Amino acid sequence: MLFRKALRHRNVEMITGEVSAIRREGDRVTGVTLADGESLDAGLVINAAGPNAGRVAAFAGLVLPVEPRKRSVFVFEARERFEDMPLLVDPSGVWVRPEGSVYITGGAENEDGEGPADPADFDPDWSLFEEVVWPTLAARIPAFEAIRPGRAWAGHYEYNTLDQNAVIGPHPEVQNFVFANGFSGHGLQQAPAVGKALAELIVHGAYRTVDCSPFAWQRIADGRPFRELNVI
Ligand SMILES: Cc1cc2nc3c(=O)[nH]c(=O)nc-3n(C[C@H](O)[C@H](O)[C@H](O)COP(=O)(O)OP(=O)(O)OC[C@H]3O[C@@H](n4cnc5c(N)ncnc54)[C@H](O)[C@@H]3O)c2cc1C
Repeated sequence: MLFRKALRHRNVEMITGEVSAIRREGDRVTGVTLADGESLDAGLVINAAGPNAGRVAAFAGLVLPVEPRKRSVFVFEARERFEDMPLLVDPSGVWVRPEGSVYITGGAENEDGEGPADPADFDPDWSLFEEVVWPTLAARIPAFEAIRPGRAWAGHYEYNTLDQNAVIGPHPEVQNFVFANGFSGHGLQQAPAVGKALAELIVHGAYRTVDCSPFAWQRIADGRPFRELNVI
């Protein structure tokens, strides 16, 4: 919202609509079609569609290994307060941190054999909380044996099945189709740098302040993972 607000006084036209098709002529994309039928010509298209990025890439006939994977966040109260408690990550993947007067927790989804989530499914996985998250918290932090679960929500990671890492920059063959995808659950903290890097690439033809070339699409074409290990 802050970025959007900052754009208000610049020469930017914001359009709201769902891209339902991308026009491609050979090694160039030439525009997009919106779900309401409107057609927009484009000299350059950026795929920033989050968990939906694989589907959007497919509109141009490209296979981007990014799919939605559901992840849940659970709120709980505990009698004991640890106000200076940092974010803790258990080796199982369960994480917990204070959030104002309550705590939030999640993690430890079983990724073995996990496939794409239903993009319309936003129901928190309460069985994960009861069977994995809470027992892990109780074993790790005795004060969390007796807690009061509160509300919960679920969202979708934009999961890159190759290496859980971002795909940034143009497609090697379709050069005017640019990607900012596959952040696999750590994209919020990377967003400002990625936006700046891509802006530089588009305006100046090269990265200037942040070199994002290790994240280029070419590694997907080569099947060469650039694995992110520190993910929860
Ligand atoms: C439970 C949970 C916890 C997370 N915690 C963290 C965290 O602690 N730290 C962190 O850094 N990251 C975290 N993330 C990940 C972070 O939210 C994402 O990495 C980040 O939002 C990705 O940004 P994005 O702009 O690429 O995609 P999104 O934020 O998903 O935005 C994509 C946008 O594209 C739009 N879109 C999709 N398809 C189309 C289409 N066909 N036409 C037009 N528009 C379309 C969508 O409506 C959406 O507005 C978390 C994610 C989840 C689910």
